Amino acid sequence: MAAELIDGRAIALEVRAQVGRDVAAWVAEGHEPPGLATVLVGDDPASALYVGNKQKASAEVGIQGFDHRLPQDAAHDEVDAILQELAADPRVSGILLQLPTPPQVDGSGLAAMIPPGKDVDGLTPVSAGLLAQGRPGLRPCTPSGILELLRRHDVQLEGAEAVVVGRSDLVGRPLAALLLAANATVTVCHSRTRDLAEVCRRADVLVAAVGRPGLILGDWIKPGATVIDVGSPVGDVDFATAVERAGLITPVPGGVGPMTIAMLLRNTLRAAQAAAAQPVGAEWT
Ligand code: NAP
Repeated sequence: MAAELIDGRAIALEVRAQVGRDVAAWVAEGHEPPGLATVLVGDDPASALYVGNKQKASAEVGIQGFDHRLPQDAAHDEVDAILQELAADPRVSGILLQLPTPPQVDGSGLAAMIPPGKDVDGLTPVSAGLLAQGRPGLRPCTPSGILELLRRHDVQLEGAEAVVVGRSDLVGRPLAALLLAANATVTVCHSRTRDLAEVCRRADVLVAAVGRPGLILGDWIKPGATVIDVGSPVGDVDFATAVERAGLITPVPGGVGPMTIAMLLRNTLRAAQAAAAQPVGAEWT
């Protein structure tokens, strides 16, 4: 029997609509609307498109946009100064520095300095450390989008065997930490894993975040398992064979992809609420 599809587009729309209602309620209580600042250095068209999409999605849910664009030859110190201003600006709840930056700007170094309370990408070392220790904090958007998909489909995580293929800082590693926090028994696989197929066959929940189209084959999947394919723009799972074995599966496109911006909006609202509740600098401790 073919697996049930997880409709990430529909779930992302629901999350976005809910964030919109929550922002409206927050403002109705007398608070300033949450603010999302994006910083884009240079003229890469793909990066400009990502930033534009984030700003547009924010505006749709009532989040204020602060859209900073710097020329290709902007100096490192110029970008640093803008990030410091944004860090100090109470109207700004979340800050995103679009990576990669031109070579004269140390983009990863600057991104790492974003204060944890405004780190709506959840990717700074402090946010990663809070997640690794199971302490409250802002979580990376794609992994938390995956948890939301699982939650909305009532996928049992407690005690389940979860296998994550991929250990990037962006997806695999934080996802493994979130699954562990949800009391799954987590195995993380990577390019040196021996007999990947056999490890995957143990999984009640199998997540592929590799970037190798069609790597995961149908007969690697435990019958009835939940399969989440993060691969983009082409899936890491061989969908035609996997759909015959899985119980639940995400398509590509229309599975994990749409969740990322939805979770960014939710993070921005949560950052605003946490900042209002606690003094700056102590938001997540
Ligand atoms: P990445 O940084 O390149 O990491 C890939 C991971 O896969 C690494 O840990 C690597 O192992 C592992 N790997 C590579 N070949 C393997 C193999 N043959 N067997 C087992 N593991 C293997 O990639 P990423 O940033 O996590 O992205 C992964 C995929 O997700 C990409 O297709 C990307 O486009 C997609 N993505 C989608 C979204 C979204 O939809 N919103 C967001 C982010 C990423 P080593 O660590 O040993 O090298």
